[in-house]
Amino acid sequence: MKITDIFQQNGSRKLYSIEIIPPKKGHSIEVLYENIEHLLDHPPAFINVTYHQREYLYKTLSNGLIEKIPIRKRPGTVSICTAIKYKYNIETIPHLICGGFSKQETEDALIDLHYVGIKNVFAVRGDAIKGEPHFIPHPEGHRYAIDLVRQIARMNNGVYLEDVVENPRPTDFCIGVAGYPEKHPEAPNLDEDIQFLKQKVEAGAEYIITQMFFDNRKYFDFVERCRAAGIHVPIIPGIKILTSARHLTFLPRAFHIDIPEALVQEVKKQKTKEGVQQVGIEWAIAQGRELLQHGIPSLHFFSMGKTRAIKKVVETLF
Ligand code: FAD
Repeated sequence: MKITDIFQQNGSRKLYSIEIIPPKKGHSIEVLYENIEHLLDHPPAFINVTYHQREYLYKTLSNGLIEKIPIRKRPGTVSICTAIKYKYNIETIPHLICGGFSKQETEDALIDLHYVGIKNVFAVRGDAIKGEPHFIPHPEGHRYAIDLVRQIARMNNGVYLEDVVENPRPTDFCIGVAGYPEKHPEAPNLDEDIQFLKQKVEAGAEYIITQMFFDNRKYFDFVERCRAAGIHVPIIPGIKILTSARHLTFLPRAFHIDIPEALVQEVKKQKTKEGVQQVGIEWAIAQGRELLQHGIPSLHFFSMGKTRAIKKVVETLF
């Protein structure tokens, strides 16, 4: 079922969803299953599965030269989505990225998804490969997420790449895209960023999931600015539960977001890991409660591989 239909069918019932990441290459999918099974008393409305670009591994050879080996550390997004959808009867949303993909490979991935009955895709550009100063598109791929959205939208109209398919069957994907309440780091300012977001919606995106934020005022302000700019699709807030003191430096560096001083101070007072987790959980509960009170229909939790804290927040909020 399309995500937009899930929202419509549930009317005013509040929902939540999660984002999970594929296990590292060579590890078992069972870890993902365990993470999902924790939540089955109150299952998520849908599960997003991230896509990971190639990275480079540097290996020193016996002659002293260094070999640069491309590797995908977390493969399997399409099959994980298929496995979860049919095992738990929960809709899954594979992320598709521009980075590392030619248009042809993207088309093939979309055809695979269409054949296995996946109705939703989340289109993002992807970040620069570790060690590269900025995002470099595949020579035959897309530079921006909007180009990926356009390709998917064309397939939804039965237009395939070479235009040689006889009686083409259209796909029927519901497309989601990313938005940034604290601005994407490469955008000159939030208004410009919102204009590009609007273009993604005009190109065919039907909902937005935001980057994580810890201060609800930033989300409310972002939504207001998006609405004023003419973006009227659902904007689903992305929530990360802070579960370790390391997150205070890691999250701002990795995701270009601020952590409010009150949260930083509460975390710093804690002497144990459990104390930090409790602070993070209480913060997320307060954030979630306020968002739901403001009529936000759905909360999206970034799991980063762990769902125990999400379970505690969800049990309190839903
Ligand atoms: P875009 O929309 O292409 O925007 C990138 C930058 O270019 C922005 O600064 C924008 O303002 C600017 N821009 C857009 N269009 C134009 C234009 N026409 N001309 C000039 N500038 C333009 N990354 C992954 O690798 N895998 C994932 O699974 C993944 N999932 C994510 C899920 C969520 C909810 C979020 C918020 C992010 C996710 N990301 C993921 C990270 C994302 O790939 C990065 O943030 C990336 O740097 C930007 O992706 P985008 O789709 O927002 O890019």
